[in-house]
Amino acid sequence: MNTDEREIWFLTGSQSLYGEDTLRQVAEQSRVIAAQLGDSPQLSTRLVWKPVLTSSDAIRRVVLDANSDDSCVGLIGWMHTFSPAKMWINGLDALQKPFLHLHTQANVEIPWATIDMDFMNLNQAAHGDREFGFIQTRLGVARKTVAGHVSDPTVTKRVGAWARAAAGAHDLRNLRLARFGDNMRDVAVTEGDKVEAQLKFGVSVNTYGVNDLVDVVDAVEQDVVDKLVAEYEDSYDVAPDLRAGGDRHESLRYSAQLEAGLRQFLEAGKFGAFTTNFEDLGGLRQLPGLAVQRLMAEGYGFGGEGDWKTAVLVRTTKTMAEGLPGGTSFMEDYTYHLEPGNQKSLGAHMLEVCPTITTSRPSIEAHPLSMGNREDPVRMRFIADPGEGIVVGLSDLGDRFRLTANDVTLVEPDEALPNLPVACAVWEAHPSLPTAAEAWLIAGAPHHTVLSTAVGLEEFEDLADILRTELLHIGDDTTTRGFLKEVRWNQAYYRLAEGF
Ligand code: MN
Repeated sequence: MNTDEREIWFLTGSQSLYGEDTLRQVAEQSRVIAAQLGDSPQLSTRLVWKPVLTSSDAIRRVVLDANSDDSCVGLIGWMHTFSPAKMWINGLDALQKPFLHLHTQANVEIPWATIDMDFMNLNQAAHGDREFGFIQTRLGVARKTVAGHVSDPTVTKRVGAWARAAAGAHDLRNLRLARFGDNMRDVAVTEGDKVEAQLKFGVSVNTYGVNDLVDVVDAVEQDVVDKLVAEYEDSYDVAPDLRAGGDRHESLRYSAQLEAGLRQFLEAGKFGAFTTNFEDLGGLRQLPGLAVQRLMAEGYGFGGEGDWKTAVLVRTTKTMAEGLPGGTSFMEDYTYHLEPGNQKSLGAHMLEVCPTITTSRPSIEAHPLSMGNREDPVRMRFIADPGEGIVVGLSDLGDRFRLTANDVTLVEPDEALPNLPVACAVWEAHPSLPTAAEAWLIAGAPHHTVLSTAVGLEEFEDLADILRTELLHIGDDTTTRGFLKEVRWNQAYYRLAEGF
């Protein structure tokens, strides 16, 4: 869905007891608050104000409308005055969209010198929202609660993170993923329950014979290849042997053909994410490297070795990150630098790292690949920009899905990496490499991940809450022992929460 088509609905609760004059003021002030929130640069989704709600029927109707409206990605609710909450029961019970309870008020300051009972009558969110909080908790409504005035950027930033998560969840609900071949033989963590994933997240995951893709790739017209090759030579530092006239130019042309064929296949099937597997390449002459990197940069989710769960997460993260600086890539913890006091992780993959995580100009090169038994694949090479980031993995524990997130700081490598033939990222894990790695392993979190420098923990926390999925966080406050306890408690909580 185009970003411009997404909407968040702004609901205001009140009651008819106050009379028309007061309700008119409630509506006016509520419009102002909604406009202030909607105009905030931190809210990337269009905010739609809805008329003040004063009856059970009206509340139920607006919720049912929201449920069935494909543009509505979530709702924000605020009780400007007191809104007796029994009238919210039917509506909230029917709610299927993400919800944010905004605990704000029209005024920033108490008008000490002039405050009278009329003002008190109109500005009751302080207790009106408490009545509303009670009924949501009583009904078990999953929501985010944000308190403060909408003129405060810390408030709009939190609402903005939720709006991004809601957009991600909305995209996920309609996502289609194509797997070319199954996952890598005998690998455990890339397995998972696709029926449960479709029920829980909405994504449909289906496998296609890789030769279905080969047919499309082989049929790509040469003028399409010409255009892509020209674009490569324009946008990247293409190795001399791959350029026109070079010994291996044909490899670059085939890589372009792969890109065009893959894009065509994905567009025709309305897929937003895909996987490949080097063990199952059928008639493909190269493992797709450059093609995957370019498609990921366009917003497609990707996972290597048939890893559909990570492909789903890459796609959802890219949706949450739309319009933000920084980037999002498929990633794999590859190898460590364990020098005491200077511990780092080097993340990479065989080929498929997304160039949105660098602002440098990538080079395009072909090098041998020990796996895959095909021609030397063409790939983009670069190093990720330094800065703050987050690494997130999705695992299937058999009875539920678990997200695990680790805050990281991306850094420059200690030295140049002249012989590393793939794109990479180097980072320092928080709170430290040993604690982060111990916690990650205790969590049973995967080796394939999403690395994002565009969105952070709050977006993932909100996404997890919307999806009612566990999220474990490893950050500056984490200790191995404390984390282990959280894992144990969660084990009990999630099994009880699922019921029988
Ligand atoms: Mn891998």
